[in-house]
Amino acid sequence: MEFERHACDILIIGSGGAAAMAALSARRQTASVTIVSKETSLVGGATIMASGGISSVFNPEDSPEVFFNDILRGGGYLNNRKLARILAECGTEAVLKVEHYGLLLDRKSRDAFNVVKKGEGHSWPRGLLDRREALGFCHGLGQALLTSGTQFLSEVLIFKLLLESDRTVGAIGLSLISGNFIVFSAKAVVLATGGLGAIYETTTNSDMLTGDGYALALEAGAALSDMEMVQFLPLAFPYPRSRRGTIIGMCSLFGPDTRLYNNRGEQYMEKYDPERKEFSTRDIVARGNFIEIMEGRGTASGAVILDPRNNDTYYRRRFEDTCPHIHKMIREVFGDGAADWKETLEAIPSQHFFMGGVQIDEDCKTAVPGLFAAGEVTGGIHGANRLSGSALTEIFVFGDRAGKRAAVYAHSQKKISSQPNSVKSGIEEAQQMFETVNKDGSRPFEVRRKIKKIMWQYFGPVRNEADMKMGIKKLQEIHETDMSALTLGSGHMRYNRERFQAIETLFMIRTALLVANAALMRRESRGSHFRTDFPYTNDNLWLKNIISKQSRDGKVAYQTKDIGDEAFLAGW
Ligand SMILES: Cc1cc2nc3c(=O)[nH]c(=O)nc-3n(C[C@H](O)[C@H](O)[C@H](O)COP(=O)(O)OP(=O)(O)OC[C@H]3O[C@@H](n4cnc5c(N)ncnc54)[C@H](O)[C@@H]3O)c2cc1C
Repeated sequence: MEFERHACDILIIGSGGAAAMAALSARRQTASVTIVSKETSLVGGATIMASGGISSVFNPEDSPEVFFNDILRGGGYLNNRKLARILAECGTEAVLKVEHYGLLLDRKSRDAFNVVKKGEGHSWPRGLLDRREALGFCHGLGQALLTSGTQFLSEVLIFKLLLESDRTVGAIGLSLISGNFIVFSAKAVVLATGGLGAIYETTTNSDMLTGDGYALALEAGAALSDMEMVQFLPLAFPYPRSRRGTIIGMCSLFGPDTRLYNNRGEQYMEKYDPERKEFSTRDIVARGNFIEIMEGRGTASGAVILDPRNNDTYYRRRFEDTCPHIHKMIREVFGDGAADWKETLEAIPSQHFFMGGVQIDEDCKTAVPGLFAAGEVTGGIHGANRLSGSALTEIFVFGDRAGKRAAVYAHSQKKISSQPNSVKSGIEEAQQMFETVNKDGSRPFEVRRKIKKIMWQYFGPVRNEADMKMGIKKLQEIHETDMSALTLGSGHMRYNRERFQAIETLFMIRTALLVANAALMRRESRGSHFRTDFPYTNDNLWLKNIISKQSRDGKVAYQTKDIGDEAFLAGW
């Protein structure tokens, strides 16, 4: 069996912001570091797409304690307290560090910032903006990586973590360019694979974010928490197809006189949150929009009407200044009238962020020795819902931490090579998927489309038992039938993106089933998880985390655990 080999102290999987931060801090500890990513960008993923809103404590009247309490309240108190406290206490310093890498924060003076807005759920204005969105600091981080001595292998998809005596010793990847398998050996592995937006039909994420990290970690023996917690954003572009799901944002961006209407001209948010209406939290506005559209009160294009016309010109200028890219897109999609706020525009809700994920401790260690994780792939920090701007703060804080802790760990370990048998069986599993070409089965793109539809329809912003059971049945059918009869359009090895897609589709269905089963299990509504059959939060029964774990026979068990129960971590 032929494959390439690559060795390093620390293997970082993914090339988003968490990965870049981890690599830079591990390099400072003089560990040899390789970043391996299925895309080409040095710093890509959801990070490069981010709008550049960064929240932390910058206001003299604010404090980490108040921020911490806001994170818990926003997260429906499901949060891992220790991680949430680290985010609140270390966020400001971490953000300021990223200024060295080209983050351009709007400053009034050396110590005072233009804190642009008070996002929903924040007690104080905490949002800072880089007007170049994330491009500025991603470029800066990329430059820093190039001079740091980090090795970068692009367009390599990791499909298996390698273990010896239950310790992570590397991974196996597939190169898009050569079509070859690559076996990585490392003393420590940092999982920084981002979220799972691509398992949903409508998402602000890119199609690359297929939830691989959750499936990889689960298979390796890590525990995952609260996989039902998916965040939806209220306002995204409904068309054209290439823009469907792309972020518009929240009503507050447009100004205080922004209204949402359905096709009957009703200002329907009064029904869902009579007090805050359009300015309610993301989950409630997204839910309102979803229900109006699903129940047939949307526009002909299946959207709601967003009306910013009554806002003062000051707000239009503020919007143009703070969201130049979205403003430009509004002009392209809806025309000059809408861009100048003389006409209304249309919007749909869209999947945006994932709060669930791999359980870590304060050192970013997972339950599997040698396996660290950081960024959106991890769960627990944000509980049942995330406050605006805190995902970028999270990757700066925890990316850095993961790299540092992984380096210390790697320095204390001897390298262990993986057994030829584990490598062989891992490669054979993938190889089998590529062997069926032009047969009767479904192509990966067809199966992906099915998964996305099911997830949007049954596990979107509004859920109930009957629908979820139906959704799980359909997902299981896909897992058992479509996946075993997957067929590819070509047997080429080099640049055969369908091979990548086949593996990603397997990750998508596994991750989708994790979300679906956890959602069915949580018989209450909390944060972003809303059920029409259990519309209220039930602290007596459900102030608990749902932990997913795979046993050696491959079965996944879902269990409830008290908040703060960290028995799942091996204590290595
Ligand atoms: C449109 C948009 C706007 C946003 N705006 C904001 C904002 O203004 N403020 C804020 O706080 N948050 C924002 N967010 C959220 C935030 O950007 C993300 O949560 C964060 O950037 C995630 O960073 P990450 O490093 O964990 O993952 P990512 O940046 O998503 O990186 C994951 C990486 O892993 C790679 N990968 C995945 N699987 C594999 C595999 N099997 N093998 C190899 N590589 C793999 C991917 O290709 C990618 O390079 C936004 C998100 C989106 C989508």
